[in-house]
Amino acid sequence: MKAAVLRAPNDLALTTIPTPQAGPGELVLRMRAAAVCGTDMRILTGKKTKGVRFPSVIGHEFAGEVVDVGTGVAAFRTGDRVCVDPVIPCRACAYCKASRENVCLNRQAIGYEFDGGFAEYVRIPAIALQAGNVFRIPQGMSFEAAALAEPLACCVNGQRNAQVQLGDSVLVLGAGPIGLMHAALARSAGARQVIISEPNAMRRQAAIERGVDAVCDPLNESLEALVHARTDGLGVDVAILAIGVPALANEALTLVRKGGRVNLFAGFSAGATGTIDVNLIHYNEILVSGASALTRRDYELALHLLAGEKVSAASLITHRYAVDEALGAFEKAATGQALKVALIND
Ligand SMILES: [Zn+2]
Ligand SMILES: [Zn+2]
Repeated sequence: MKAAVLRAPNDLALTTIPTPQAGPGELVLRMRAAAVCGTDMRILTGKKTKGVRFPSVIGHEFAGEVVDVGTGVAAFRTGDRVCVDPVIPCRACAYCKASRENVCLNRQAIGYEFDGGFAEYVRIPAIALQAGNVFRIPQGMSFEAAALAEPLACCVNGQRNAQVQLGDSVLVLGAGPIGLMHAALARSAGARQVIISEPNAMRRQAAIERGVDAVCDPLNESLEALVHARTDGLGVDVAILAIGVPALANEALTLVRKGGRVNLFAGFSAGATGTIDVNLIHYNEILVSGASALTRRDYELALHLLAGEKVSAASLITHRYAVDEALGAFEKAATGQALKVALIND
C-alpha cells in the first residue's frame, strides 16, 4: 500500500509498504479520511518526540471502512464504517483508575506507537478493540466529519478543564481548527460571548463566518482594549490558548478577570519555557489548567456533538489530498493558509 512514512525528523517519504493484515483480535481499515493535526506538524519537524518511532506512519485523526476482521472479533464486520479514538489507555494504572485515562502512564496511541492514518490502510491493534476505542460512525455522518471527532474530543477535555460555563465571556487565542472548535463548544456551553484573537486574516474571517462575537487582529489592534470594552473593564472569565506560543500564557493571565481561568490547551515545543508574572495568578486568584489528549468518553461525546451538528467540523476541512499527494498535504498545512488539511482515500 501507499503510505507517507516518517523516516526521521524532516524526512517524510511517500513509499510503498506491506498492506497490513488483521491478526487475532484486530481490524484493518481502509482509510477514508485522515486529517493533519498541529501535533503531526510538530512531530514532522522534530518538535514533538514522545512516543514517536522511525520509520513509522503517523496520523491519529482518521476514519475508515473495515476491510479485514481478525479471528475472535465479533463486534465488527467487513464494510462497517468506523472511526477510532487513537489513545489507548491501559485501564490499570493509578491515573486510569482515577478517571484520568488521557494521561495514562502506559498509554499507547495509534499514530505513535502503532502506525496511523496517513496510509491507504490502517491496522487497529487488539488492545484498541478491547478497550472500546473503535466507534461506529453515526448514520449520515461523513468519514471526514468522523475523522475530526479526535481533535474535537481533545477540545471537550480542554473545555472541561477550563470550566466554561453558562454566561461566561470566553477568549480564544488562535483561530485555527482547534480555536474554532473551542469557540463552537463555548457557544454550545452557553457562553455569553466568544472573542477570538488571530493574526491571520483568513482565519479571522473563518471565525466571523462561524458566528463568534468579536475578532481581533493582535498585530494591528489592542486585544486588551477590545476585551476590556466588551467586559466592563473586568476581563474575560476564561481564556484558552489554542496556539502554542509560550508568551501568550502571560498575556492570557492579564486578560482574565479576578477568579478567571486560563487553559493552556495547545502543546508547546519540547523544552519550551516562558516567563509569567506570578503575582497575576496569586493576587487575581486565577486558575491555570492544561489539557492532554482525550478520554474514550470525550471521543464518544464529540461524535454525538458532530452528529447533532453542534459543531460543523467538516466545514473546517479546507484542503483535500489523495494519499499519493500526501507530501503536498503537509506542505499546505505548514503554510498556515489552510484550516484543516486531510488525506482522502475514495
Ligand atoms: Zn490531533
Ligand atoms: Zn493507565
